[in-house]
Amino acid sequence: MLVKTEGIVIRTRDYGESHKVVVLFTRERGKLPVLARGAKKPRSRLGAVTQLFTHGQYLCFLGSGMGTLSQGELISSHHALRSDLFLTATAAYLVELLDRLTEDMEPLPVLYRLLSSTLDQLEEGIDPDILSRIFELRVLEAAGYRPVLDKCALCGSKDRPVRFSVRQGGFLCTDCLHRDERTIPLSENAARILRLLQRMTPDRIGKVRVKGETKDQLEQVLRAFIDEYTGIAFKSRPFLDQLRKGWSPSSDR
Ligand SMILES: [Zn+2]
Repeated sequence: MLVKTEGIVIRTRDYGESHKVVVLFTRERGKLPVLARGAKKPRSRLGAVTQLFTHGQYLCFLGSGMGTLSQGELISSHHALRSDLFLTATAAYLVELLDRLTEDMEPLPVLYRLLSSTLDQLEEGIDPDILSRIFELRVLEAAGYRPVLDKCALCGSKDRPVRFSVRQGGFLCTDCLHRDERTIPLSENAARILRLLQRMTPDRIGKVRVKGETKDQLEQVLRAFIDEYTGIAFKSRPFLDQLRKGWSPSSDR
């Protein structure tokens, strides 16, 4: 069966001397691995449309085993995401998170729109930290891990809880703090922004300005949460961490 689908390349690997296996995240079918025959040959028509982060229209033949890519048409090459090392590392981390928390052939149109919009905004120069936090919150939510941010995760009290418990899955109020000895403190501002990001889409960030210190807190909390609940051993994250250490003085990103 020949199907046309809009998708974004989230993973590729070489297959033999001249072929590639390309994992598309598609609007209609979710994650779809396809074989791109000859894609590594210099003059292949499939070369440009099978590069990591490319957004395109794809014509695939789907049979009993792995599908085959027959044609592709560029919508956006996302060239900037491959030419800037920091953007490459950020986008690689985001697609890895998405890849690891989704199954093949599971239609997830909300996550498709999220991915497409996040990569576009990254390329436009919108704050990669804030985009990453929104992306993490959305993907976690779709996978069934939604941190409780608007009330105490244990008793439901709305009395300004500002310490985050990874183990209990969200903020804790003063009465419940003793239930976890390893809570992470967050400034009121960081807590407010985290709640805001949980409801926000990437295209609406606009000019949200967040201090480096606040960003660091948000990252720390979500990282601990992701590590606790997903247990993913990220391949992309060590490289991203290394780049950030080398390039940016901690608090003023
Ligand atoms: Zn409580």
